[in-house]
Amino acid sequence: SPPRAGLQRAGSAGSVGSMAGSQRGSLDFSNGQMAGSSTLRRTSERAGSGSFAGLRVHSRGSRAGSAGRRAAGQLAPLPLAPEKLDEYDNIKVAVRVRPPNAQELARGDAQALFVNPADHRQIQMVVPAGYARNGASASRNFTFHACLSPASRQQDVLRLCGITQLLDASLDGYNATVLAYGQTGSGKTFTMSGREETLLQEGYLGDSDDGIISRSLAYLFEQLAARSSGPAADGCRYSIRVSFAEIYNEQIYDLIRFDKRQLAVRWDTAKGFHVPELLCKECGSLEETLQVLSLAVRHRRVGSHELNMESSRSHSIFTVHVDATPTRPEDHEFGMTRYGKVSFVDLAGSERLRDSKSTGETMKETTSINRSLFMLGKVIAALADGAQGARVPYRESKLTKLLQDSLGGSSLSLLIACCSPSATHIEETLSTLTYAARAKNIRNQPAVQV
Ligand code: ADP
Ligand code: MG
Repeated sequence: SPPRAGLQRAGSAGSVGSMAGSQRGSLDFSNGQMAGSSTLRRTSERAGSGSFAGLRVHSRGSRAGSAGRRAAGQLAPLPLAPEKLDEYDNIKVAVRVRPPNAQELARGDAQALFVNPADHRQIQMVVPAGYARNGASASRNFTFHACLSPASRQQDVLRLCGITQLLDASLDGYNATVLAYGQTGSGKTFTMSGREETLLQEGYLGDSDDGIISRSLAYLFEQLAARSSGPAADGCRYSIRVSFAEIYNEQIYDLIRFDKRQLAVRWDTAKGFHVPELLCKECGSLEETLQVLSLAVRHRRVGSHELNMESSRSHSIFTVHVDATPTRPEDHEFGMTRYGKVSFVDLAGSERLRDSKSTGETMKETTSINRSLFMLGKVIAALADGAQGARVPYRESKLTKLLQDSLGGSSLSLLIACCSPSATHIEETLSTLTYAARAKNIRNQPAVQV
């Protein structure tokens, strides 16, 4: 496998970001409290309470870092609440670190990711001695639009990541996308969909583990009701349709009308890339939408079994299409329809193929995943650099073709990079953070000293 430049460079003193941990002995993200060890522990406290249980690293001769001096619970404001859409960066990037799992706890893995409690845009990756290939310890800082610690709750994700702005935009006729990226097991599905067992139940909404999708649907229907009657009524009739596509091995399947047929992507000047046969099911209520979603999740289960596909190797795209039709004859748009949509993309696991013995199907899958994630990265990086039109390589994979009208142009996107907190996964985590950093729209940003 190719050398992991970042990790190897991390060993040579001072070359990567600011160093912390054992060399400088000065990192404390736990509000001045010193912890007895830097191994993972279960997160019991809540984000925003000012206390970051499980987020403690210390080393010989520790002293409180400057970042720890801000008052407990006082967070720097997130640059994620634009009043006007033209102030909104086209692509925002958030990182979510999941809590340690049972295996990581049992092994006593060291913690590798630390969100700065004084500024939730900053995250530090610490490679403890012995975990990197050359055995040296190192650390590296990253800045994103928002970083969610293991203590972050599902109910806070919409607000912390600015997703309500994307949803409002979709009602206003814009296209928006939320993408979850990361290695298998890093929390993509949990973040997007909550627990699958819950999704399989009908009328499941209200669970504290509900993910972005069902919370977004609840928010959208709430907004629709507000826009339909009462003081905020805007004179439009709204209709909601949903579609759910799965891409596996560069083949597209419909998860709502599920007949295991592969669907073709077409292109025309009016619509760009689209899948004519993908069902867009009209839904009159939140309950109905959740039932359709539940059905699609069941289909995905059955399908992955019958088609023998590994779900971690497929991309799934759930889209809410919004049509707004002005109903007042005096409205200058009367008779026209305003269309917007928001897509929720649970990407295939980003892990690289390590096992060189993998051949045949596995190899083919890995190649197509790597290719589509690679091309997605290219598209996002091109957009972050201000590229437009033909200079953005949408047509290089099915995934980027399907996302063409939701990435770039006037659309708003959020990439959520999901990570394990454990030092055991530093190579994948570094690769995820590097991918995410390339996507974000903040340029010329110096490394932040914490
Ligand atoms: P992925 O979709 O990236 O492969 P999952 O979302 O399936 O990963 O997460 C792996 C496991 O970790 C699941 O059992 C999930 O419930 C759990 N998990 C992930 N993120 C969190 C979180 N923020 N809080 C609690 N459990 C989580
Ligand atoms: Mg998953």
